[in-house]
Amino acid sequence: MAYRKIVEIGDSKLRKVCKPVEKFDQRLKTLLSDMADTMYKADGVGLAAPQVGILRRVVVIDIGDGLIELVNPVIVESEGSQTGPEGCLSVPGRRGIVTRPNKLRVQAQDAEGNAIEFEAEEFFARAVCHELDHLDGVLYVDKMDEEIFDDDDDEDEEEQD
Ligand code: ZN
Repeated sequence: MAYRKIVEIGDSKLRKVCKPVEKFDQRLKTLLSDMADTMYKADGVGLAAPQVGILRRVVVIDIGDGLIELVNPVIVESEGSQTGPEGCLSVPGRRGIVTRPNKLRVQAQDAEGNAIEFEAEEFFARAVCHELDHLDGVLYVDKMDEEIFDDDDDEDEEEQD
């Protein structure tokens, strides 16, 4: 197990367009493995390489159905829309409402460079969109409809209705 430091909003690495992976070597496998370890340790459902300071088109996702490793992923079709809450390991302590496509078709490569293609729906589609945005320097806060504020702070609840 190896953990990498998660970079946070304000770091310029989160705002860069990542380069495609060209070498499917041991270094890529180590990156994927470290990213999965880091994601699970942080209790996240996805992590993109720029979040650990690596400007390559690599993401890992696990929404509870097992680990998915995507290299050079591309959304080739999208349809519908869904609106719901989203957070990000690089934007700690904040959440927002974001509208995303409800269904996607995705093409990518695996750790060996083999082509893969799959469909993603609902929360899985949301996770894919969120992580792929990271590869283009986009954070969910750039496109959220509104921020979610916890209501367990010291505001006077009686004045809300
Ligand atoms: Zn994120």
